[in-house]
Amino acid sequence: MNRDTICVQGGYTPGNGEPRQIPIIQSTTFKYATSEDMGKLFDLEADGYFYSRLQNPTCDMVAKKICELEGGTAAMLTSSGQAANFFALFNICEAGDHIVASSTIYGGTFNLISVTMAKMGITATFVDPLCTEEELNAAFRPNTKVVFGETIANPALTVLDIEKFAKAAHAHGVPLMVDNTFPTPVNCRPFEWGADIVTHSTTKYMDGHGAVLGGAIVDGGKFDWMAHAEKFPGLCTPDDSYHGITYAERFGKEGAFITKATAQLMRDFGSMQSPMNAYMLNLGLESLHVRMQRHCANGMAVAQFLENHPKVAYVNYCGLESSPYHALAQKYLPNGSCGVVSFGLAGGRQAASTFMKELKLAAIETHVADARTCCLNPASSTHRQMNDEQLAAAGVPAELVRMSCGLESAEDLIADIAQALDKV
Ligand SMILES: *Cc1c(COP(=O)(O)O)cnc(C)c1O
Repeated sequence: MNRDTICVQGGYTPGNGEPRQIPIIQSTTFKYATSEDMGKLFDLEADGYFYSRLQNPTCDMVAKKICELEGGTAAMLTSSGQAANFFALFNICEAGDHIVASSTIYGGTFNLISVTMAKMGITATFVDPLCTEEELNAAFRPNTKVVFGETIANPALTVLDIEKFAKAAHAHGVPLMVDNTFPTPVNCRPFEWGADIVTHSTTKYMDGHGAVLGGAIVDGGKFDWMAHAEKFPGLCTPDDSYHGITYAERFGKEGAFITKATAQLMRDFGSMQSPMNAYMLNLGLESLHVRMQRHCANGMAVAQFLENHPKVAYVNYCGLESSPYHALAQKYLPNGSCGVVSFGLAGGRQAASTFMKELKLAAIETHVADARTCCLNPASSTHRQMNDEQLAAAGVPAELVRMSCGLESAEDLIADIAQALDKV
C-alpha cells in the first residue's frame, strides 16, 4: 500500500463489530488459564502478552504501523527516542566493542555514545558525514559492531549519504543503523538505500503535536547475523535466560533483532511506551503524510525568504540549491526534507537574541517538529557552557538560530520573521 494509506490505516484492521479506532489496552498484566500456557510465553515458544513492561497490544499495533511505513519486518516502541537509540545500539554492542558514528548526530545521542556508553566499555569513532570512503573505512576496528548516523541530523541539518555508509558497514560485516526522525518514512525510507536498522524519536513529527515522548526501533530484516556470528554472540549463541534459545536461529533475519531487544532489554531496563501515549502517537501518525508536506513547504518558503534577507549571513536547508547537501537531498529526499531550518544573523549573538525576542508566532523552545513554529539559539541554551570558539567547532556558532517551521500559514510566518528582523 501507499505510504499515505499506511499512515491512516496501517497496523490495525478491526474485525466485525470491533472498535474502529485502536483500543487502549490499559493493563499491566494478562490472564491465562493454565501455568503451561504461560510457560510457553516465557520460553518464547508462543506469541502473546504477559506483562506490559515487555510488550503491550496497543504499542504493538502502533509499532506495526511504523514498521509498515518503513518497509521493515519487525518493530517495537520505546518510551523515548533516547531509549530507542540506546536499545538499538546496546542490543548488539557490549563491553569491549566499538561504534563508528557520524559526528553531526543529535547532542543527546552524541552524549549517550561518547560518555554514557563509554562508561560501559563501548568506545566510538566519529566521522564527518561528508568524509571520503577511504576516511570512513579507516574508522573501523576489528571490534566495530555497528555504524550509526542520522538521515537529516538535528540540529546540524547535514544529510547522510546512506549508500556510502551502508557500503562501508557491510564491507566490514556490520549493520548500518539510521535515526530517521527528521524526514520520517514519508520522505525517506533508509532500508531502500541499504540501512539495516532504523530508529525514531516519535516525539517529533510522528506525534507532531508536542504531546507525547516516544521512540521506535525497526528492523529491515536483511542483515545476516549468522553470517557474522563471531561478531554478534548475543544474537548467535544461546541465551540461558530463555532456556538456551538462539535468537538468530529461532527468529531468523526478519525477527531476531526485535525479539532480543524486547525479551532481554525491555525485560531488564523497562522503557516501554505507555499504551495511552501510543494511542496519541497513532493519532499523530494518521495525518503524518499530510503534515509533512506543509512542514516542508513552510521550511522551504522560510529558507528562501531568509536567504535573500540582508540581515541574514547564511541559511542551512538542504532544499536550497546553495546547500552543500542539496545533491544528497535530491537523491534521498526528492519529496522534501523537513521543516527545520537554521541560519546565522549577520549581527552575531546579540542580533540573534533581539530577533528571537521580537518574534510573535515562533516561541522559544528546545523542541522541534511541532505543529507550532518554535525556535532556539543553541549558544544561549543547549550549548551555553561553550565559548565562541567551541561553539563554532561544534557547528552551532553564537549567531545560529534553529527554526522549526510548524503548520501555520507561510505568509504569516514570513511576516513575523520580517518584522522581527526589522527590529534587529
Ligand atoms: C529528539 C531526538 C532524539 C531523542 O529523542 P527523545 O524522544 O527526545 O528522547 C534522538 N534523535 C533525534 C534525531 C532527535 O531529534
